[in-house]
Amino acid sequence: MNSIVNLPHDDRSCGWYAALPEPLPCRRLIGEQKADYVVIGAGFAGLAAARRLAEHLPQSRIVLVDAQRIGYGASGRNSGFVIDLPHKFALEHPDPQHKQRLLGLNRAAIDQLQTLIGRHGIDCQWSHAGKYQGAVGARGLAYLDHFEKLMSDLGEPYRLVEREELAGVLGTGYYSRAIFTPGCYLMQPAALVRGLGASLPKNVEVLEESPVRRLEKDTDGRWILHGDEGLIRTPRVLLGTSIFTQEFGYLRNRLLPVMTFASWTRPLTDNEMAATGIQADWGLTPADHAGTTVRMTQDRRLIIRNTYKHVPRYGRSIDEATRSRIREDHRKAFVARYPHLADVPFTHTWGGVYAISRNFTNYFGQLDEGVFATACDNGVGAAWGTISGTLLADMAVGTDSEQLSDIRAVTGMPSLNPPEPFLGLGVKTRIRWAAWNSRSEI
Ligand SMILES: Cc1cc2nc3c(=O)[nH]c(=O)nc-3n(C[C@H](O)[C@H](O)[C@H](O)COP(=O)(O)OP(=O)(O)OC[C@H]3O[C@@H](n4cnc5c(N)ncnc54)[C@H](O)[C@@H]3O)c2cc1C
Repeated sequence: MNSIVNLPHDDRSCGWYAALPEPLPCRRLIGEQKADYVVIGAGFAGLAAARRLAEHLPQSRIVLVDAQRIGYGASGRNSGFVIDLPHKFALEHPDPQHKQRLLGLNRAAIDQLQTLIGRHGIDCQWSHAGKYQGAVGARGLAYLDHFEKLMSDLGEPYRLVEREELAGVLGTGYYSRAIFTPGCYLMQPAALVRGLGASLPKNVEVLEESPVRRLEKDTDGRWILHGDEGLIRTPRVLLGTSIFTQEFGYLRNRLLPVMTFASWTRPLTDNEMAATGIQADWGLTPADHAGTTVRMTQDRRLIIRNTYKHVPRYGRSIDEATRSRIREDHRKAFVARYPHLADVPFTHTWGGVYAISRNFTNYFGQLDEGVFATACDNGVGAAWGTISGTLLADMAVGTDSEQLSDIRAVTGMPSLNPPEPFLGLGVKTRIRWAAWNSRSEI
């Protein structure tokens, strides 16, 4: 198989990671090793897969390998919503059972994370805060009406929150209305994934800063994973590598690499909190998905997330000029909402890459003899990565369960992308068109 072209290279400016203490030194892939299973990718999916494999096979040697430190990839740099409700497009699925299955899987993931956080005392701002879906103008309100109908069709609890009540929580009268859904949890993503990595069972060996550059089969049919300073031989490989799954030669031209970006402030002071009437620990996603996500952390930082970019060279982080432009856009969104906090600076601006597919279908299954993968979370991978990684391990060891049937029923093959340059042009135009249409919600 060809050597990998795109290796993960996330920027060094993620606020969540910077807020944590320096990590302990890590172990790297050095020399020749053998393992019963190797999991590549230590995001939500790979961490969950490695844990479940180890629980099934306490006598086996499981190796979890990541190109970066745990918490550095998308799983440690997202907005920290662990969402129970399926993705917007999945919510529109005509089959009610499909939606119930997705809900059940996401909720199983939340229960699993909650149990692990409690059992291992993971300090990650975990909170059952629910989620606001907020509308600014007419376009957002139309989306909200549609969302309300989807919620009532689904029989899910929700509450309409009007401007005045919202302002009492968010500290801004910018939003005209929101729908509050109670099932979402919030967390500090880098702290959570680092805690999950540190609490893995003893028969999982974690190797960080160890990019796998090539995957090939030896004459005995075992896989050889080539690193920079060593290799691992194993009969079975589980890929929790999101968009990078394509680099191993699988799902080629079926995944779309998308980057989105966030900035956060320093913690607000007591005076700033009192002057705005803002509360701590809430999260708002935009009613119109192309709009802006806003979060207030438990330690009182305000986060702005918006902007999407199609990034064919997803192994690169963005350059400084692009980061500055994005920070300015975030600034505008921040000041529009919080003019009275216009003096509060952003301390960090960062981006992260994830995979979507044109038919919004998640891949879950076996790609090759001894190779299993979950890929393409469509941007809501905290819950999805956790449950799909767990069930991928179940599948790889040959167990069966109702959840495994459920995940098989709701996943499929991401559709093929058109060839370049049509793909790039098409996606860019679509992103720009969505941003223009949604400008009142950004
Ligand atoms: C700014 C931002 C905000 C977001 N907000 C949310 C949110 O609030 N809620 C939510 O649910 N989702 C959110 N997402 C999406 C979410 O972060 C992803 O869906 C999720 O992290 C995917 O998890 P994963 O484990 O599948 O993949 P990743 O977290 O991408 O993990 C893949 C891992 O594979 C490793 N890897 C890749 N190639 C190799 C190789 N060759 N060798 C070794 N290691 C390799 C990478 O280093 C990486 O750690 C957001 C994303 C971004 C960028």
